[in-house]
Amino acid sequence: MQKDIFIGEVQSGHYDGQKIELKGWVNRSRGSKKIWFIVLRDSTGRIQCVAKKDTVGEDIFDALRGALIESSLIIRGIVNVDERSEGGHELVIESAEVVGPVNPESPFPITESAMENADGGETEFLLDNRHLYLRTGRMTQMLKIRSSVFGAIHSYFRDRDFTEYQAPCFVAGAVEGGSTLFEVPYFGRKAYLTQSWQLYAEAAMPALERLYTIAPSFRAEKSRTRRHLTEFWHAEMEIAWGGNSEVMQHGENLVRHISRTLIDERESELSNLGRDLDLIARYADNPYPRMRYDEAIETLQGMGVAVEWGQDLDYSKEKVLTQDFEVPHFLTHYPKIAKPFYHRPDPDDPKYVLCHDLLAPEGYGEIIGGGERTWSEKEILERIDEENTPREPYEFYIDVRRYGGVPHGGFGLGVDRVCSWLSGADHIREVIPFPRDSRRVTP
Ligand code: ATP
Ligand code: MG
Repeated sequence: MQKDIFIGEVQSGHYDGQKIELKGWVNRSRGSKKIWFIVLRDSTGRIQCVAKKDTVGEDIFDALRGALIESSLIIRGIVNVDERSEGGHELVIESAEVVGPVNPESPFPITESAMENADGGETEFLLDNRHLYLRTGRMTQMLKIRSSVFGAIHSYFRDRDFTEYQAPCFVAGAVEGGSTLFEVPYFGRKAYLTQSWQLYAEAAMPALERLYTIAPSFRAEKSRTRRHLTEFWHAEMEIAWGGNSEVMQHGENLVRHISRTLIDERESELSNLGRDLDLIARYADNPYPRMRYDEAIETLQGMGVAVEWGQDLDYSKEKVLTQDFEVPHFLTHYPKIAKPFYHRPDPDDPKYVLCHDLLAPEGYGEIIGGGERTWSEKEILERIDEENTPREPYEFYIDVRRYGGVPHGGFGLGVDRVCSWLSGADHIREVIPFPRDSRRVTP
């Protein structure tokens, strides 16, 4: 039962005056005993369809009248240009059939008023019914924007000869610190869900030199925030023979490429969501300034924020720091004590590490974390011991340095965070179909 014609094409004027067949779902309906209007929706848009009892006959007319919201239909009819209809077209029904009816005793539960209150009192209800909420306009638009973001990441790396590479999800050691590790029973032993692809990417760096992935990462984030999921999508890259500045340049170019792709592919979805396209164009067209950690601390202290040198900057600080940013900014050269062992100490001043975070404006905060890796055997052993990290789970990682180590580095970009920022979402869960947080693994 193939589908040949999509509503979006009809609304673009490709079938004016023609007899066509549409397949879709009832979005709204109303009418009288003689004439019945159905707004049909599919994945590409909506169109008003009109049935007259005299034309379609009593059986079809009654079936259409009985088709509740979200019933699936096949409709045949003539496309009329009609200025007053949504999208400028209307379908005059000649025949129709109900494919999948909806039981009147359990009508589609997602009502317009529940959706208007999506971020208020109805939040939990809509999350419980996430599988149905996905069909509503807002989620559909978010998912299309998300798809373009994924596509842009793939095209950025593939056009530059990066190899896509996969790492295991079950691992033995932490990348980002023990407090957010998910422990999994593993045949009498303990395993963990991966927090990042990075360590395994470094292992393949001498083989592939330029590699990337888009994969889920898992972090047991106990506090629920607007920017953390327990399962999020992580775009990561690693390059051989490159340092902090080359990696940063890729991060900047990638985020600008994603912004440009959204303008090219998702203008109408962004506009429907109320997003200002000039902002996205600004993120696509302008360079992203670099600022050292020390300068950020001074700026914050100058603004009266209580922050001490050596602290990692949490969201409360990022938010104040970024409030006047017009484009994303890089923060570089964090103190060594604030970062994990794999960050390379700066040879010019080993109090600092050669790293960067990219902070998005409009209050969205960190979207990328990256930097140069500690790449000699001597330095990595010093750093691991300094942090009292057990060596054993990292033996494979240390081996990368024992056999022809080279300068290298990479970054991780939070794909959901980028979707959230560029679509102007209020909450990260708005941009992922089935969000996971500390309280929810269903549906
Ligand atoms: P944060 O301080 O915001 O929790 P992080 O410094 O722990 O983030 P990194 O380890 O640097 O994050 O991970 C790289 C990127 O992955 C981050 O810049 C962010 O965009 C994204 N990210 C990290 N944790 C999460 C999460 N729990 N949910 C969604 N995205 C995340
Ligand atoms: Mg980080």
